[in-house]
Amino acid sequence: MKDLSTDLRERKARGLYRSHRVVDGPQGVNVRMDGRDLLSFCSNDYLGLANHPEVVAAFHAGLEAYGAGSGAAHLISGHSRAHQALEEELADFVQRPRALLFSTGYMANLGVLAVLAGRGARVFEDRSNHASLLDGARLSGARLVRYRHNDAADLAQRLQAAPAGEYLVATDGVFSMDGDLAPVADLASVAARHAAWLMVDDAHGLGVLGPGGRGILAQAGLDRTQVPVLMGTLGKACGTFGAFVAGSDELIETLIQAARTYIYTTAPPPALAQATRTALRLVREGEWRRERLRMLVQRFRQGAAQLGLHLPESDTPIQPLIIGDPDMALRLSAALVECGILISAIRPPTVPPGSARLRITFSAAHSEEQVDRLLDALEQTVTVDVVKQSVPDQLV
Ligand SMILES: *Cc1c(COP(=O)(O)O)cnc(C)c1O
Repeated sequence: MKDLSTDLRERKARGLYRSHRVVDGPQGVNVRMDGRDLLSFCSNDYLGLANHPEVVAAFHAGLEAYGAGSGAAHLISGHSRAHQALEEELADFVQRPRALLFSTGYMANLGVLAVLAGRGARVFEDRSNHASLLDGARLSGARLVRYRHNDAADLAQRLQAAPAGEYLVATDGVFSMDGDLAPVADLASVAARHAAWLMVDDAHGLGVLGPGGRGILAQAGLDRTQVPVLMGTLGKACGTFGAFVAGSDELIETLIQAARTYIYTTAPPPALAQATRTALRLVREGEWRRERLRMLVQRFRQGAAQLGLHLPESDTPIQPLIIGDPDMALRLSAALVECGILISAIRPPTVPPGSARLRITFSAAHSEEQVDRLLDALEQTVTVDVVKQSVPDQLV
């Protein structure tokens, strides 16, 4: 029998213990957490839609129209008109023939990987991929091959060396803990050369990147022939909850038949789908939000450079400050709370050992003055010598 108390004690001793903090009231740049009012730089609500009045009103209207629960799985009687309309609007948004809703991004990734890459297949994944993509490959029964972060040449070599068979390449679009972008065009040509499926998880790119917020693939000008599988989540820039997969009619029909994380679970509340439809409209119309976001990120990067703080290359709202030691990252996060700033310390195994970090994220709802307050707080708490100049090479 596993000794839980020793395990928990060891986690604490290594600075890897995780615990909840309780938020009162809505998500936003100002949050009340554990009884303190804090200025938050750690949510994925990049466009400030999680508590947008129009999204909240649509949720209310959805509740009036549909009640609280969906009552059943999509394929039984849980697939409402609201779900159907949202799927059509999502497909139109990402300019693909079809889209299929999943309850969460985690479930979407598990479902897709199991269907497209079963036993005997090989899944090639970036070493920095989100846990759900890695877990999906492991659960699928396929052989998982990890390639160097953002290294299309390394991927090509590994594909070249693999025995004949079915291949799937999967990558984050925007890396969730680093904020950098996958070289999607290079990956697409490598995948095409080896007749491999290519799947891009654009959880952090949709709503933020590309024309109309259509994500990294739109920004790179890649269509569904180059990237046949697009996964997006709705709990980040869209501000609500859930996820979808978009692609060809055949792909979506196949997922409906076979994706167990789609079939064997209750459909999300229809009211949620109504709220997301409104959020999606705000995303599409929200060029000014994306522009604000870019401006705030630039202001932060310039200010951080003036403080002598080294930030890895990233133009996205994800701006990690790599610290290295998990305990130090925790102490800095606690010191920032004393300054009224909320930034969570991200530690292994979410990030590689030796690369614990403060993951700073921005929202279009932040003001310039709030970014300056963050810089002031960093100046008071983070001395330059605790910030790693780069992630050790063996980790990438
Ligand atoms: C958040 C995230 C997911 C999981 O999505 P949920 O809807 O939160 O389950 C998947 N992939 C990436 C890259 C993510 O950042």
